[in-house]
Amino acid sequence: MRAKTKFIHAGIVGDETTGAVSTPIYQVSTYKQDAVGKFRGYEYSRTGNPTRHALEVLISELENGHAGFAFSSGMAAVSSVVMLLKQGDHIIVTDDVYGGTFRVFTKVLNRFGIEATFVDTANIQAVEDAIQPNTKAIYIETPTNPLLKITDIKLISTLAKQYQLLTIVDNTFLTPYLQQPITLGADIVLHSATKYIGGHSDVIAGLVVVSNAELAEQLHFVQNSVGAILGPQDSWLLMRGIKTLPIRVEEVNSNTLRVAEFLEQHSKVGKVYYPGLINHPGHELQKKQATGFGGMISFDVGSAEKAEEMLSKLRYFTLAESLGAVESLISIPARMTHASIPAKRRAELGIVDGLVRISVGIEDVEDLLEDLEQAL
Ligand SMILES: *Cc1c(COP(=O)(O)O)cnc(C)c1O
Repeated sequence: MRAKTKFIHAGIVGDETTGAVSTPIYQVSTYKQDAVGKFRGYEYSRTGNPTRHALEVLISELENGHAGFAFSSGMAAVSSVVMLLKQGDHIIVTDDVYGGTFRVFTKVLNRFGIEATFVDTANIQAVEDAIQPNTKAIYIETPTNPLLKITDIKLISTLAKQYQLLTIVDNTFLTPYLQQPITLGADIVLHSATKYIGGHSDVIAGLVVVSNAELAEQLHFVQNSVGAILGPQDSWLLMRGIKTLPIRVEEVNSNTLRVAEFLEQHSKVGKVYYPGLINHPGHELQKKQATGFGGMISFDVGSAEKAEEMLSKLRYFTLAESLGAVESLISIPARMTHASIPAKRRAELGIVDGLVRISVGIEDVEDLLEDLEQAL
């Protein structure tokens, strides 16, 4: 099955009983038992729900994994995955990781004795140097947010296997349509499905796929014990979003390249970060490990004042946190998505005050270019 067909036909399609083409929404908490302990596959919806199950099977097949898990948010997915570790364990994390992920590691999980070291995972030597006797996992995001740094998933996975560490990849930015980390050697892939997978700015959700039965059993235990599950309505919304994911991503990719090239030649714009640009560090690597460059661009307009002025003049770019939707979204990372990272650390990472981040949508690209031109 080719990729675009897979997004329509993978997983559990429709409903056997009625012939419904769309998976029904099982709005139910508990299930009648035929005799004590004799279930028809489901006993209680925290443990398992048919609508959520259909989504979990689908994402697992799309990521070429062993099993999928749906959570109430991307952060619930991240936190539940980290709960596979225990007190005293250490984890290596990409340095310009999503702000919420940085926060949960440094303000919540640290209180339970899980220690994180943040390193530039694009630098394999720095990763190896950070490995300690109690290190249990390497957690990467590629491309990163907002500077679009690229980490070599295969190289990290190989290193991790040498030291018997888990490789965990946040694949939110590229989706399984463009990048499949498990195929490249990763053990666990996770998503903020709030972004491209949902795709319409209408649901908060997280998804995880694991590569083997042992991890599947462990993560199902955490999912059922902690209970940060996705509800049936939201599971259905994600399956609906997934059907159009390939065509949305194709459109986003071509629009984004046009926007990046426009920004790159514009006199009012400094540095442009987009993996699809030939001079972007990691461009070749991204070409090797993924089938496209995605829809995220960051660029420097010089100062916070200029960034704000520009944002106030735009018509088609909605000022909002988040990304991966049909509509183009724009934000100032230093003041919004990355405000929870201390200013000193932001400066070290290169997240300057004049940095503007765009998530390109599927509008007509000519309208987007004209809008950026007038605002700049
Ligand atoms: C948004 C995001 C998250 C967190 O997901 P939520 O659904 O907002 O909880 C994690 N990682 C990345 C890369 C994100 O963009």
